Amino acid sequence: MSFEDPANAFEVLKQYESLDGIDVKTLMDSVSRGGLTYNDFLMLPGKIDFPSSIVSLESKLTKKITLKAPLLSSPMDTVTEADMAIHMALLGGIGIIHHNCSAEEQADMVRQVKKYENGFISDPVVVDPSQTVGDVKKLKEKLGFAGFPVTVNGKMPGKLLGIVTSRDIQFHDDNNTPVGEIMTTDLVTASGSVDLLAANEVLRKSKKGKLPIVDEQGNITALLSRTDLQKNHNYPNASKSFDSKQLLCGAAIGTRPDDRQRLEKLVQAGLDVVILDSSQGNSIFQIEMIQWAKATFPNLQVIGGNVVTREQAASLIAAGVDGLRIGMGSGSICITQEVMAVGRPQGTAVYNVTEFAKKFGVPCIADGGIQNIGHITKAIALGASTVMMGGLLAGTTESPGKYFYKNGQRVKAYRGMGSIEAMEKTGLDSNAATSRYFSEADSVLVAQGVSGNVVDRGSITKFIPYLTYGLQHGLQDMGVKSIADMQKGVDEGTVRFEFRSPSAQLEGGVHSLHSYEKRLHN
Ligand code: GDP
Ligand code: GDP
Ligand code: GDP
Ligand code: 5GP
Repeated sequence: MSFEDPANAFEVLKQYESLDGIDVKTLMDSVSRGGLTYNDFLMLPGKIDFPSSIVSLESKLTKKITLKAPLLSSPMDTVTEADMAIHMALLGGIGIIHHNCSAEEQADMVRQVKKYENGFISDPVVVDPSQTVGDVKKLKEKLGFAGFPVTVNGKMPGKLLGIVTSRDIQFHDDNNTPVGEIMTTDLVTASGSVDLLAANEVLRKSKKGKLPIVDEQGNITALLSRTDLQKNHNYPNASKSFDSKQLLCGAAIGTRPDDRQRLEKLVQAGLDVVILDSSQGNSIFQIEMIQWAKATFPNLQVIGGNVVTREQAASLIAAGVDGLRIGMGSGSICITQEVMAVGRPQGTAVYNVTEFAKKFGVPCIADGGIQNIGHITKAIALGASTVMMGGLLAGTTESPGKYFYKNGQRVKAYRGMGSIEAMEKTGLDSNAATSRYFSEADSVLVAQGVSGNVVDRGSITKFIPYLTYGLQHGLQDMGVKSIADMQKGVDEGTVRFEFRSPSAQLEGGVHSLHSYEKRLHN
């Protein structure tokens, strides 16, 4: 065969015994080299014959929940409260609400997430005609909305008399006026049997802000809000329950006896998925908690962890988990490996656990150590279905806490849940931080995390799209059209890997410049 004829390139390629690069097993089997983490390897490029915009990032969080963006915010008190969880879900991921607070406070946050967007609002707040404009203003202050149906008894269900909205009270100075005098009574309504699609159409055509649904006796049974049509339009990837159209919400709990009552409260508030939060998940406490939670709440998805070995994973899979969380000591605020001498490099942990868990159809979260988009792509290439981020999201507008300035930079506090500061949070019967790190009864708190600050990253409404677009481009470079395709390619050996020597890592970073500015997105 002539090497001078370029048309022979593919023929010559066939003479090689294998594809260029190495497969994932070869990459990971190099025991003598020790455990690997994300910076230690790369994937090789494939062929691009499609736009990055069609790359699907759909992936499973648990056996029964699929997300459009494989991203989670971590249950830490400087990362995920209601605002973060609402926006993570709107953008296609999910937020896991922390438990370094009372059960009531945590359930209240879950409730806020679940109430944020609705299809039919089946338990709308209603008022009675004798309540005053002042009462409605107070309700608006407390709840954030002011569209209240007026019923005879001020209860649900009750005969619908009228509706009072923001516009009705806006310039009404006399707070003592009864609602019955200012409510609108010629209402556009729909009948109880209408489905969501048809009801939305009536709402659209009516040009009103609300659509009360009434039964044959004129009792209000539900309410529809125009704002929800707008929310659905603005966030097409949102993670929502199929029926209720409410956002999906996760929360973390410990594995102590009083965490059972906590979980009951969270489920009552509408929780979709619980994460059992432990730094070493393979414990008898967690196994019992999984069995109890699965038996008590059949519709709740239960994620166990954390694990880093297949033996740990086997215990929790046998107990019945719907998902696993992987990572020990890889978090940016974490000193577990230093203090406990236990843990595992995250790349190796993700590969070994997912390789085992996928035999049982149990999706896994790669938790901790995600510093950039490339790390997300690599975690998923190694078998994770989703990734969980703490530090990367802690400096955003939606994380708890206030910005302040440190050495001229705008920062927010970010602390490990095993840091002394988090463990010393007082006034709680069960402290999430101490229970995660098994030192509640100890007279000396042994820290497994530090407390620090992270720079301002702006709003996650820009940052998450930056991560997802970047991820789509990474998959496009590999020549795969979806997360499922990438993982299939890794399994079949068509997605190829390369080990990165320390000098290769230096080469892959910015180098040889006098100075530069690193802007990640516009
Ligand atoms: P979509 O059509 O791609 O948005 O798919 P969905 O399953 O989200 O929506 C199916 C139908 O439900 C559409 O007619 C939507 O208008 C409607 N819908 C989706 N989310 C909401 C919501 O939050 N509130 C209301 N009222 N309707 C919704
Ligand atoms: P309003 O016009 O002042 O009532 O407020 P918006 O229409 O801007 O916002 C109402 C939002 O709160 C929608 O997304 C609703 O789904 C949500 N919501 C949750 N529960 C209730 C409720 O009981 N009543 C009303 N009016 N909205 C609710
Ligand atoms: P707002 O813009 O948040 O005040 O809400 P709406 O657009 O729902 O209401 C505007 C005005 O229309 C208010 O004075 C309502 O009382 C009145 N209105 C009249 N008919 C209806 C109806 O069928 N539904 C609703 N929601 N408001 C109505
Ligand atoms: P990051 O995304 O900042 O690298 O890591 C976040 C993850 O670190 C969390 O999801 C959690 O699993 C873990 N983590 C949080 N706080 C602590 C801590 O104090 N010590 C340890 N060892 N891990 C922590």
